[in-house]
Amino acid sequence: MPWREDQPQAMEFSLENTCNLECVQCHGGLSSRIRQEREKRPPFRSPYDSTFFEELFPWLDRLAEARFSGGEPFLIEAYYRIWERLAGKNPDCEILVQTNGTVLSPRVARVLEQGRFNISVSLDSLERERFESLRKGARLGEVMSNLEYFRDYCRDRGTYFGLSICVMPGNWEELPSLLDFASRQGAEVALNLVTEPLWASLRGLDAKDLEGIQAVLERAVLPESSPLAARNLRKYRDAVRQVALWAGQARNREGAPLVGEMTSRELMDLLREKVLSHLEEHPDFLNAWEGGYGEVEAFLAGILAGIPEKFTVNAAHSEALKNLSGGRLLLSMERYSQEALAGRVHGFLEKAVL
Ligand code: SF4
Repeated sequence: MPWREDQPQAMEFSLENTCNLECVQCHGGLSSRIRQEREKRPPFRSPYDSTFFEELFPWLDRLAEARFSGGEPFLIEAYYRIWERLAGKNPDCEILVQTNGTVLSPRVARVLEQGRFNISVSLDSLERERFESLRKGARLGEVMSNLEYFRDYCRDRGTYFGLSICVMPGNWEELPSLLDFASRQGAEVALNLVTEPLWASLRGLDAKDLEGIQAVLERAVLPESSPLAARNLRKYRDAVRQVALWAGQARNREGAPLVGEMTSRELMDLLREKVLSHLEEHPDFLNAWEGGYGEVEAFLAGILAGIPEKFTVNAAHSEALKNLSGGRLLLSMERYSQEALAGRVHGFLEKAVL
């Protein structure tokens, strides 16, 4: 295919949710195992048939960079087809993979040998019990040994090696040791401060708790002994700043003046209105609901079923409801179970955080 100026140089693939883990903060949209085990929903049907690959392949041959996420990329059949094509026609392409670190089969080792892989491994704890409770289905010993393999692979080829850390209420105190570990492994960190679901996010905590976390993290002494350690330290400080920001938001919520009362029917009407106005502009959001809008409305009613008929609202509740978009609501309904969202609504009535 002749080079064209408007031809893409980089592509990002997120084609399937095939995954062997059930990480606590994740959802069925990203993990097939969660979709099956936790949400009891049917698997997604892949729209990527042989025509898709026939049309895609010529575009791969001049790519400078291709990124792969999942699910777990090393379990996704479609990616092996793409990697094989890159190995044959464009072996210098920089391939970036975000992996949960549990899959290192002979097939993975073979495919790594054929391309230029840049690898980021998810690692949320260095303590076995905690790691295995956060990343359900993974074993720390196995991930650590795979991590060493990926680290050496990237070091030998001069490609990027990183650790991706999800920061949550269940592991924030390990952040300094995780940073130290990453720098000693020669890994760039990516710190993902989880925002959804709320119970797995620091942003849902009270101001006092967040101020305590901020103080502990600020006291930690971390090395700045190499350019990599210094870069990692900057990301750590950004994360601490985010915690401070959430503490400020929590203080505002907690001091918000009372506005009045609201009924469950008024809340339902408000949410229905947001959903309907979003669907008017984005009818494709209904594709995820086999039963159409009727199913969406029944799901919404189920979420609100257990709340009191009348409750008090303060200025923070009003502000959060005003800012809630129909699109975000629909996405949450697509991703999380009715039970999980009902818990979220109760939390909202109590703390005014959505
Ligand atoms: S490995 Fe990634 S996709 Fe799989 S459950 Fe964990 S966070 Fe979700």
